[in-house]
Amino acid sequence: MKLHEIAVAAPVPGSLTYSCPVALPIGTRVQVLLGNRLVTGYVLAQLPEDEELPAAIKIKAVADCLDAHPVFPAQLVPFFRWMAAYYHHPLGEVIRTALPAGLSGSFSGAAAKAKTEPVVRLCAPLSDQPAAVLKKSEQKTLELFYQHCGGRQVMPRRELTKLYAGAGKALTSLAAAGLVMLEERHVYRDPFGDLLPFSDRPAELTAEQAAAVSSITAAIDTGAFQTFLLHGVTGSGKTEVYLRAAEHCLAQKKNVLVLVPELALAAQMEGQFYSRFGEQLAVLHSGLADGERFDQWQRILRGEAKIAVGARSAVFAPFAELGLVIVDEEHEATYKQDDRLRYNGRDMAVLRARFASCPVLLGSATPSVGSLYQAEQGKYRLLTLPKRIGGQVLPQVELVDLSKEKRSQKDWFFSNRLLAALKENLAAGLQSLLFVNRRGYAAFMLCRDCGAVVRCHNCRVSLTLHRGRNQLLCHYCGYSLRPDIICPDCGSGDVVGLGLGSERVEAEVRRLFPQARVARLDSDAITTRRAQLNLLRQVREHEIDILIGTQMAAKGLHFPKVTLVGVVWADSGLSLPDCKAAERTFQLLAQVTGRAGRGERAGKVIIQTHQPSHYVLTAAYAHDCRAVYEQEIALRSLLGYPPFGRLINLRFSGPDEKQVENAAKSAAALLRMCLAKDCLAADILGPAPAPLSLLKNRFRWQLLLKGAQPEILHWLCDQLLREKDKICGKKVRLAVDVDPENMM
Ligand code: ADP
Ligand code: ZN
Ligand code: ZN
Repeated sequence: MKLHEIAVAAPVPGSLTYSCPVALPIGTRVQVLLGNRLVTGYVLAQLPEDEELPAAIKIKAVADCLDAHPVFPAQLVPFFRWMAAYYHHPLGEVIRTALPAGLSGSFSGAAAKAKTEPVVRLCAPLSDQPAAVLKKSEQKTLELFYQHCGGRQVMPRRELTKLYAGAGKALTSLAAAGLVMLEERHVYRDPFGDLLPFSDRPAELTAEQAAAVSSITAAIDTGAFQTFLLHGVTGSGKTEVYLRAAEHCLAQKKNVLVLVPELALAAQMEGQFYSRFGEQLAVLHSGLADGERFDQWQRILRGEAKIAVGARSAVFAPFAELGLVIVDEEHEATYKQDDRLRYNGRDMAVLRARFASCPVLLGSATPSVGSLYQAEQGKYRLLTLPKRIGGQVLPQVELVDLSKEKRSQKDWFFSNRLLAALKENLAAGLQSLLFVNRRGYAAFMLCRDCGAVVRCHNCRVSLTLHRGRNQLLCHYCGYSLRPDIICPDCGSGDVVGLGLGSERVEAEVRRLFPQARVARLDSDAITTRRAQLNLLRQVREHEIDILIGTQMAAKGLHFPKVTLVGVVWADSGLSLPDCKAAERTFQLLAQVTGRAGRGERAGKVIIQTHQPSHYVLTAAYAHDCRAVYEQEIALRSLLGYPPFGRLINLRFSGPDEKQVENAAKSAAALLRMCLAKDCLAADILGPAPAPLSLLKNRFRWQLLLKGAQPEILHWLCDQLLREKDKICGKKVRLAVDVDPENMM
């Protein structure tokens, strides 16, 4: 009998030993008995045959083998083990999270066929074209090409013939004369069949891009772990650096993993990688159906796909031979998973590179304070792209001090300056984007008689007024009320909506600019990916004059014709009880600012605020990442927050407040005793009710561990988890959040 180390997909710590008459390959799935239940297990190792086992231990046999071939490569096993230990999560559950859900389903096997389209490529620049010898139709075709090619050497033939019916014939003769080439190229369609904008390979890199690429390719050739931080302002061509580095890596017959923070950006990045690498690309994200995800996974396993692009969970892509890992927008908090296995995709990408001995490239226009610190310490190698491509300047930023604006109470949220700029832009036939931090019509409902705020029945948060749905809505649990309520505290009927939401800004814009074409991009107005892509296309094709958007519109999107960006109220995130509030607000402002002036015209940004002298706002005004970094580093060093110390948040929740409180208090007592007994140094802060102290009918308390030595914090968690059943009982849940991004 051969012995195997097996991790079971159940909440048990570590791994177990099972026997089987034949040796099972690492990475295959089996069924094993756990107690008297059949559960799925994953083969992690074959144990030495002559291992002496105490006679008292009876080894169970594997009940069934589910796979003939591994579903993950053996190289991933140390990565899984590390994650399980670091996030205090059962090993088998880590592996289950990593694998695509469709793995139990049937596999269709057929890979999608390559899609191509006919394009025209210019052989020489216009100035070199012998104009005199051209026929009229040829001349016209070339002119149209220049007007519509957006500065590139290539455009789809279909676009030219749409503009001018005679182009088809003219192109044939131009090609015969050697002036243009007619070729086919890969096109990429999103899962709904819509064509994504094509990105052509620029002939030359800028000097900064070239320097960045050569540092990375040198590291790929060395094949050693190294972390690069690519700090490039918005529009500086970071994506091209990713593409070139990937190209080099593929030429070395190694694989590339690319992470993007969220779905909306995944499509854009997919499109760019697909147009360069075609069928060598696999995509992995939650927007795929289970079956599709499974197919993509299998293509990687079989070595058909050499590059994977995807959101957080793509960090588990089953590559055996990784040569490069890329993380775009590395500062994004969305890399952190907020439930079950609370891992950070960005951090795990760095870890995967370390296990695979390959470089990792972290890119951002606004790198996190932590990453800049690592660069300063010499742990990360800093690469910078300080200028926008094509000499575009960064948009000019204006701060408007709302406390100096004397407008009526009703529409305080539009300063005269912003209104004038919107009017001017509209008159000039240009597009504007208005950024609002919150969806809905009014942020909260206030009783004018007693001052009470209407709160959710299940959560202790204020309800938001949504006019379109005609509801007061809880953004956390979905609880809703009709808006025509009486005050729950005093029974008065005088309850009014106050505060700002995207829906209200939209209504106001429509009232002020009835002639403008207005649209709103938030998760109320846009509920499907198809609708989102559709709206983005409308914006790109200038069917919209003023776009009102929340976070959804702020990030990474490329709108060449937007020249004015207005931030309606910059301050809402600044006062959150979170040590990253200032950093996040700056990143958001910088991202929004980056949406302006990405075409030929310079952009302008107007930021409205009540705190114009706050360092976050002066830094946004001056495009000065550094200033925020220095303020934050000084503050965090003083408080021992990351990157100077580490944090682990322990959250207790349950339906009975007293039980939750007691569990949190006994946990704190136990941990303080552990520290005292071994004379170790760490801070145990709390316990205290979480800022969101009631959510979905569960009361929440938290206990924060802080310290300069992560080992001590992890050891404390281990001590607590050992006593968990005693401390928490049956009704209280304990969530361990290592390196928390969200402490609400
Ligand atoms: P970032 O990701 O830094 O915001 P992008 O990758 O969106 O910047 O680049 C901005 C634009 O510049 C894109 O349209 C891209 O195709 C183009 N671009 C990038 N590198 C070059 C280059 N070397 N020459 C010409 N155009 C380039
Ligand atoms: Zn009242
Ligand atoms: Zn609620």
